[in-house]
Amino acid sequence: MRVAIVGNGIAAVTAIREIRRMDPSIQIDVWTDERHPYYPRPKLIELIAGRITEKDVIQYNTDWYQAQQVGLHLAEAVREIDTSSLTVKTDRSEYPQYDKILVACGSIPAVPPIAGIDSESVYVIRTLDDAMVIRETISTTRRHIILGGGILGIEIAAAIKARGGDPIVVTNIAQLLPAQLDSTGSDVLVKRLERMGVRIQFDFTCDRIECVNGSATLISRQSGNVTGDMVVVSTGVKPNKALAEAAGISCGHGIKVDSHMMTSANNGYAAGDFAEWNVITWGLIPPAMDTAKVAAQNIVQHGDATYNGTVRSNTLQVAGIDLTSIGEINPPPNSTEYESIVQADISGGTYYKAVIKDNVIVGAIILGNRQVALKIRQLINSRTDVSSMRDSIFSL
Ligand SMILES: Cc1cc2nc3c(=O)[nH]c(=O)nc-3n(C[C@H](O)[C@H](O)[C@H](O)COP(=O)(O)OP(=O)(O)OC[C@H]3O[C@@H](n4cnc5c(N)ncnc54)[C@H](O)[C@@H]3O)c2cc1C
Repeated sequence: MRVAIVGNGIAAVTAIREIRRMDPSIQIDVWTDERHPYYPRPKLIELIAGRITEKDVIQYNTDWYQAQQVGLHLAEAVREIDTSSLTVKTDRSEYPQYDKILVACGSIPAVPPIAGIDSESVYVIRTLDDAMVIRETISTTRRHIILGGGILGIEIAAAIKARGGDPIVVTNIAQLLPAQLDSTGSDVLVKRLERMGVRIQFDFTCDRIECVNGSATLISRQSGNVTGDMVVVSTGVKPNKALAEAAGISCGHGIKVDSHMMTSANNGYAAGDFAEWNVITWGLIPPAMDTAKVAAQNIVQHGDATYNGTVRSNTLQVAGIDLTSIGEINPPPNSTEYESIVQADISGGTYYKAVIKDNVIVGAIILGNRQVALKIRQLINSRTDVSSMRDSIFSL
């Protein structure tokens, strides 16, 4: 059997590993429009921070593909998938008929339609090449603006600071990470970031960007201007579905797949960031790996595996700071059903909140202490009656 894989991110290499585990004889070819073999994208933050080199970023060099007996086509974009003749055309050639295809084209930055956003002082980060350009530019510039206050935007700012830059994160909302934090938790995080040298500007809706003589100014009708020497846009991602759409494969927000990760195309599967399963597209590594394993198993033997979703982790690190956020973190104000116990230490940089209903914890935010997070998680999982421990709920 011949398998064609478009894209070479975590979904593609996970699928390669899984196919090889099941069947060493399948012929596999993988195409990427990037010039580098596989690297994990979180390492790009480490690269920008100067903690690792370009060589350290690469996880599988070309020897790995050889050992897996995979035809690796670097810097060769797939331009067309013909789902009836089962062929792919690339920049350089036409691939002989495949039996199965895995489309794993990932995401691309979702850049807002702001005038001036395509100026030369404005950058996005998705690839190793993007990160290398940003790393170079930081070393020749002084003031660095990050447009977008999500986790990635904060990580980029902290990495720029670690490299001696002067970052300011600009966001159009009034707090950081509203899905994980309440406003007091956001204040504590902001103070910690400020102590690290990362400034945050809230409620800033950027109307246009003006670049003059190497400096870039973000202009907001309501909130004034922010000027720097470079801007990194980190305002989310969108599924990279143009190729699949052009091939007539059924797409919604992403490329639509069933629970076998099969698309509407003949013998066509999809996995990773751009697969839309059950109206969900993820944009995270754990589901990219889960969907890729299921796709690979069905490529080898269709019907063998089903995807039932990925449990979203409620623990993350933001600029090296532990954050756990579980369940109901913002109960309706004035509700008599819920009680919140809160302990904030702005100077110590910790924030703990437990939301209690019927004497059990139904939601929690734990910022800055892994042990406390562990304790609260256990209390939640065991549905412990906490009525007698209200004063010591966060004590270890
Ligand atoms: C800086 C950064 C940090 C991140 N940190 C985290 C983190 O800490 N935790 C987490 O869970 N997620 C993180 N993510 C998100 C995570 O990297 C993605 O969820 C993951 O990369 C998705 O994998 P994928 O294989 O679906 O797609 P991608 O990694 O996007 O790979 C798709 C590949 O396909 C190639 N391609 C696309 N079209 C074609 C074509 N026509 N021909 C040939 N090749 C093509 C692309 O160039 C790309 O190389 C981060 C992302 C970035 C950018």
